[in-house]
Amino acid sequence: MTLRPDTFKSLVKVAAEQVIASAPELTALDQAIGDGDHGTNMKRGFEAVLSKLDAIGAQPLDEAFKTIGKTLVMTVGGASGPLYGSFFLAAGEALAHKKLPEDLAEVFGSGVNAVSARGRSQAGEKTMLDVLVPVLETLKADAGRGDVIERVRTTAAEAVARTAPMRATKGRASFLGERSVGHVDPGAKSSCVLLQAVCASLEAQR
Ligand code: ADP
Ligand code: MG
Repeated sequence: MTLRPDTFKSLVKVAAEQVIASAPELTALDQAIGDGDHGTNMKRGFEAVLSKLDAIGAQPLDEAFKTIGKTLVMTVGGASGPLYGSFFLAAGEALAHKKLPEDLAEVFGSGVNAVSARGRSQAGEKTMLDVLVPVLETLKADAGRGDVIERVRTTAAEAVARTAPMRATKGRASFLGERSVGHVDPGAKSSCVLLQAVCASLEAQR
């Protein structure tokens, strides 16, 4: 796996377009256990990212991640904006002294730790971390394996489904207590959409 600047730019484009396309689904999930804005929040944020695509594509990878992070913090709003923003800002910081693909697990881990610190949350609370943490575990275990992309896809898809029986203890859904059970978490789904898009794009470019 190599990550050339043009590869990175097209990854960002595909991922942003996928999030925008899944806005209605994300909104429907958030209507069930939140306030119904996750789709519009994410759509607004990733439209802003798309509007900066040329600049992002021209930046060194660490700066590009930070630009994405700042853009998401400024435009997504809700709880998820600062959390996704923290992910990309911290991953960008890590990239300043790490290399891809060999340090992928460490870079991704920096992003996951930042979400956890910002959200005062951890896996098992029915949030985006219930996708991000299992994917990090897969990256740590399988980073050197040829089929890591496929394993990340499977991990993310299984992890998002596992949020349905969970009871939310963080975020708006936690206000519902037991009534949050039986619904997929919107942020877990948007993390899955992003990861699936990146994986599909990497597979197509191999
Ligand atoms: P809001 O809840 O403010 O309306 P969004 O609807 O955009 O914001 O995002 C909701 C998603 O954010 C949730 O589905 C969950 O995945 C994620 N989230 C909320 N609070 C936390 C937290 N403390 N830690 C991690 N993720 C969180
Ligand atoms: Mg919401």
